[in-house]
Amino acid sequence: MKILVSNDDGYLSPGLACLADAARELAEVMVVAPDRERSGASNSLTLTRPLRAREAEPGVYAVDGTPTDCVHLGLTGLTAQRADVVLSGINIGANLGDDILYSGTVAAATEGRYLGYPAVAFSMASFAPRHWDTAARVVTHVVRRLEDHNLPGNTLLNVNIPDIPWSEVRGMRATRMGRRHPSEKVIRETDPRGHPIYWIGQAGAEEDAGEGTDFHAVASGWVSVTPINLDLTRHGVLESTEAWLGDVG
Ligand code: MN
Repeated sequence: MKILVSNDDGYLSPGLACLADAARELAEVMVVAPDRERSGASNSLTLTRPLRAREAEPGVYAVDGTPTDCVHLGLTGLTAQRADVVLSGINIGANLGDDILYSGTVAAATEGRYLGYPAVAFSMASFAPRHWDTAARVVTHVVRRLEDHNLPGNTLLNVNIPDIPWSEVRGMRATRMGRRHPSEKVIRETDPRGHPIYWIGQAGAEEDAGEGTDFHAVASGWVSVTPINLDLTRHGVLESTEAWLGDVG
């Protein structure tokens, strides 16, 4: 098996090291990751300038682009090496509920899935993770299970890991996306020359975090595994949408 590893925290992230090391126990690994943190990059591609890739160490490439750029390059011609699976992470910080739409970690897996590969995004539910050993065990378990369980087309897995000792993990739960309240307002400050500058505010608190959600699983000591559908169509309202759009005549 050959595994392509990427992330959005940059190629020097300890989370990437944890994921790549765990993957190397199972397969041949190539790492293609951003040369700096690109959290929140979502599915963006760099189309207005060329990309450069530097082999930081054998089999580890740092790219001056987004997570999506990295996986795209890694799967379509950076090297002659092919891949069987794409893994992303391990992100420092959870990707729960609507975080998924902004996440570069999930986006790297999404790009893998779009290009036809089984893909999994991993995140640690802490901004100061301590239990990397727990995360490594989760990676090993999920990848081993994927070897004989094919994901359906258009589907990737978003895995969130509680930052607790492995002995305290209750197990793995298949979950649905919860939802957050709208994010905090933008924070306005002033630069040294008196011009306004802005920081994007914090993500909102949980709004839908009940039983069955990714939020609930992680908060209760479970590893949350959300199957994500790349088809964002709301199939249930297709007919009613066509009805209210009406006739153009
Ligand atoms: Mn990140």
